[in-house]
Amino acid sequence: MKCNRCGREIQEGDSYTHFGETLCEDCYLDMRLEVKGCDPWAVHSATRLRESSGLEGAEGMTELQKAIYELVKSKGKVTRQEVMGNLNLSEQEIQKQLAILRHCELVKGHKEGGNLYLIPFS
Ligand SMILES: [Zn+2]
Repeated sequence: MKCNRCGREIQEGDSYTHFGETLCEDCYLDMRLEVKGCDPWAVHSATRLRESSGLEGAEGMTELQKAIYELVKSKGKVTRQEVMGNLNLSEQEIQKQLAILRHCELVKGHKEGGNLYLIPFS
């Protein structure tokens, strides 16, 4: 079978289903990040919270979010696996933290050579 988004050949066991689409792992993770990243309520509340407290850059984040942000910034680009390994995070935990970092426009996803990396937002 083929990935509905990038057209890559995928093995039966490596496919993911997302809203009826068959996706490869990269596209699936990408989609899930995008869905969360585009949640208007979350973006609004994250931005408003930071504005009302006059925060910029890495200020106002939890220690864990700062650690992820610093790691991405210092390396330029990292895979989620690297971040998970470095900071000892579960898939669920990193998913949650990345969604917040994206809302605050600090970290974004970047595709290169079929791999998904995390890079600084600007
Ligand atoms: Zn794909």
